[in-house]
Amino acid sequence: MSYDDNNIFAKILRGEIPCNKIYEDDFVLAFHDINPQKKIHALVIPKGKYIDLDDFTLKASSEEMVGLLKGINIVAKKLGISTEVGKGYRALANISDHGGQEVPHLHFHLFGGEKVGKMVE
Ligand code: 5GP
Repeated sequence: MSYDDNNIFAKILRGEIPCNKIYEDDFVLAFHDINPQKKIHALVIPKGKYIDLDDFTLKASSEEMVGLLKGINIVAKKLGISTEVGKGYRALANISDHGGQEVPHLHFHLFGGEKVGKMVE
C-alpha cells in the first residue's frame, strides 16, 4: 500500500482543512480530535508521509523518530496530562485493518483529563 496524499491528515498538514492546533514543530503537528472520546483527546502526527507505525519504523530517520516521541511529551505537557505536570494519559496508535485505523497517516491518540478506563473493549 502506498501513502494516500488525499487522506484527511495530509490535507490538514497542507493547510487545506482547518484543525484546532495544539502544537507544531519541524517533526510533528498536534491538534484536538474532531470527535473526542475523553475529556482530552489529542492527535499527534508526524509531518512526514507515513501510513502507520510499521511504515514509520521501517522508513523514518532517527531524527524523525526522536522528534515524534519528544513531540508527544511536549503536547502532553502542554495539555497538563504528562506525569511532570498531571496525572498521566494514554497514548495509542491504531495500525491498519485489525488495529481499527481509519485515517492512513500515522497518528498517536492522547487520551486524558480523566481516568481513561479499560484498555481494550
Ligand atoms: P483512527 O481510527 O484512524 O485511529 O483515528 C482517526 C481519528 O481522526 C478519529 O478519532 C477521528 O475522530 C479523527 N478525525 C477524523 N477526521 C478528522 C478531522 O477532519 N479533524 C480532526 N481534528 N480529527 C479527525
